[in-house]
Amino acid sequence: MQLQVSEEDRRFQQEVRTFLSENLDPHLSRKVKLGYPISKEEQDGWTRTLNTRGWAAPNWPVEVGGPGWTMLRRHLFDIEMKMHHAPELQGFGFSMVGPAIIKYGTQQQQNYYLPMILNADISWCQGYSEPQAGSDLASVRTRAVVDGDEYVVSGSKIWTSAAERADHIFMLVRTDTEAKPQLGITFLLMEMNDPGITVKPLLAFNGKRLWNQVFFDQVRVPRANRLGEENRGWSVAKNLLGNERLLVSRVAESRRMLSNIMSALSEDPQKAAFRESLAALVIRLEALDATALRLLTKFDKGHEIGAEPSMLKLKGSQLVQDMDRMLYEIVGYLALPQDSTMREGGPAGAEIADMVASGLFHHRGYTIAGGTSEIQHNIIAQQVLGL
Ligand SMILES: Cc1cc2nc3c(=O)[nH]c(=O)nc-3n(C[C@H](O)[C@H](O)[C@H](O)COP(=O)(O)OP(=O)(O)OC[C@H]3O[C@@H](n4cnc5c(N)ncnc54)[C@H](O)[C@@H]3O)c2cc1C
Repeated sequence: MQLQVSEEDRRFQQEVRTFLSENLDPHLSRKVKLGYPISKEEQDGWTRTLNTRGWAAPNWPVEVGGPGWTMLRRHLFDIEMKMHHAPELQGFGFSMVGPAIIKYGTQQQQNYYLPMILNADISWCQGYSEPQAGSDLASVRTRAVVDGDEYVVSGSKIWTSAAERADHIFMLVRTDTEAKPQLGITFLLMEMNDPGITVKPLLAFNGKRLWNQVFFDQVRVPRANRLGEENRGWSVAKNLLGNERLLVSRVAESRRMLSNIMSALSEDPQKAAFRESLAALVIRLEALDATALRLLTKFDKGHEIGAEPSMLKLKGSQLVQDMDRMLYEIVGYLALPQDSTMREGGPAGAEIADMVASGLFHHRGYTIAGGTSEIQHNIIAQQVLGL
């Protein structure tokens, strides 16, 4: 078990730091730090900058344009990216559908999609959840009926993040209504401008368009756009995240939030009042990072990883929310509209107040998205503890 980072990995960390300080536009990084919206051009431009260094897809093997890093290096890279306030990479393309195309795609699909993902020429959204299928994803009902060389898709997907910006969607559709639920699902790659697709906004309670509901009315999709075999889409979906499950701890995000807490507290006359709760958060963060490092190095040494990453998902999402609460207690009041004049030259933390208030709402979703906390509890109880 390795809980310390080796000298060689420290040098790697330094190399990432140098690259970021030389290549990340300070104006862009400031926008990320303050939680201001990033334009598609800025996001794509940053992806292309990383791609020139071969770092756009940290999780892809070298043969398809990735750096072939160990899990530990990816974890360290993630921390540096967050601490330098680099824009988030397009997770749906790089972490989800990309690895699935690498594993299940035909040569033709790989040649077509992978270079476009690497160069940010296309962007994706994920069409899994439906009004009647969330935790119980195997009950998806969106139908795809074979008609010659095409599928005809009808139904609806919900909570589809980024559907308003994406030009592609990867979908789970039902192709067999008679089989066991898991055995009648197919994985499709579709274009969002296909006739018959309608996207309607769903607003989160911070007022932002966080999701969409996407409707499919007799949308025709070539059968060649299927990923993997027909009726075997469940296996593709289950394997899609593959070892990505190991990187769900949000340690990098928590480290960035901790640095925000420290700088906001630096001038706060009330800081003594936060000492105990801050210490408790730091201890939880270090324990989480140690657990993440333990699992990452176990994986890098070739050991099988079971359901333990569910602990990282559960504890990581809860920690971010508790960091949010502390930040909000420290600077939240400065986000009130009547206090906006205090931000210019105001107390430390004033400039991040909007971002803190927005994050407090936005991060509520962390204990739901990608499998709710209750589901993680079930997995840990049954598969880790054997209860
Ligand atoms: C920020 C965010 C972004 C998202 N983005 C996307 C996206 O891009 N694409 C997409 O397809 N989906 C997306 N989702 C949807 C997400 O995957 C679902 O919300 C999630 O899977 C839960 O499903 P549900 O909302 O239908 O809740 P349900 O499954 O209906 O659950 C409702 C409640 O019942 C509990 N529950 C359910 N089953 C059990 C059980 N067996 N044991 C104990 N408790 C149980 C749950 O924990 C929850 O509290 C997103 C969600 C969020 C919050």
